[in-house]
Amino acid sequence: MHSDLWVEEKFEDFLGLRFKVEKVLFSGKSEFQTVDVIETKGHGKMLLNDGLVMVTERDEFAYHDMIAHVPLFVHPHPKKVLIIGGGDGGTAREVIRHASVNECTMVEIDAMVVDACKKYIPQTAQALENKKVNLIIGDGVKFVKETTEKFDVIIVDSTDPIGPAQPLFGEAFYQDVYNCLTDDGIVVSQGESSWYAIDIQKSLLSVLKGVFPQCYLYSFSNLTYPGGLWSFTFASKKYHPINDFNPKTVQESQLAFDYYNEKIHQGAFSLPNFVLKALQGLIDN
Ligand code: SAM
Repeated sequence: MHSDLWVEEKFEDFLGLRFKVEKVLFSGKSEFQTVDVIETKGHGKMLLNDGLVMVTERDEFAYHDMIAHVPLFVHPHPKKVLIIGGGDGGTAREVIRHASVNECTMVEIDAMVVDACKKYIPQTAQALENKKVNLIIGDGVKFVKETTEKFDVIIVDSTDPIGPAQPLFGEAFYQDVYNCLTDDGIVVSQGESSWYAIDIQKSLLSVLKGVFPQCYLYSFSNLTYPGGLWSFTFASKKYHPINDFNPKTVQESQLAFDYYNEKIHQGAFSLPNFVLKALQGLIDN
């Protein structure tokens, strides 16, 4: 093997993030995307889909804490949770830590992502063996259109809006998501970068605004994504992400987190002015 091998995530045509590679563990091409798992020098094992960093062992806790615990601590009694995407298993791992959750259905389109993560990144994927997790290999768009089940919380843990993930950013999908949420349901979605993808954020939020009575954006720091500052959208039929959040429930849960805490929960909804200005009229923050 080359002694000085690096992997570069190319972000559009103007930015590259380089990571030193210790070992290539898996490289494959599914019908949906390329899937690579590499051992890096500074960030542990890393999953890339189509050359874009999805997860690294070093910082995955930040993303997974924030995508899962924010909605699950706002909803007062989340029992049934649906994850769309999330093939690495990190989101499912955090969801099933909540004692109230008795069923976590996960619909991931690409079996190759799941298999590669089960083999090489058990830190996230071992949760997929848990009996609370019902893993379905299939298209999340089709699932929400056809299911008759209702969920308290839906988490859209998707790749960027390209290929099979493109419809996950569209109106028809969110209309179906609305229909399969309970009357007080919440949906949280991977919301991209305010630095580099404000147009995607605008388009996703205008879709959500057309379907849900309440829409918010919240941010967190992600070490290995371009720009560092990353976002999730929070759309809700009933609950306000801060006014309906009781910080005591976090302590009462007795769960320990490396990123999430009560103050981070509240602070994450405070956005920089350039974001507020760009998203004016689209968010209720
Ligand atoms: N943390 C990651 C990020 O934002 O970079 C995303 C995690 S996860 C690996 C994203 C998953 O969404 C991928 O495994 C991809 O196969 C899956 N996905 C994309 N489109 C999908 C669809 N229509 N239905 C279900 N899963 C989908």
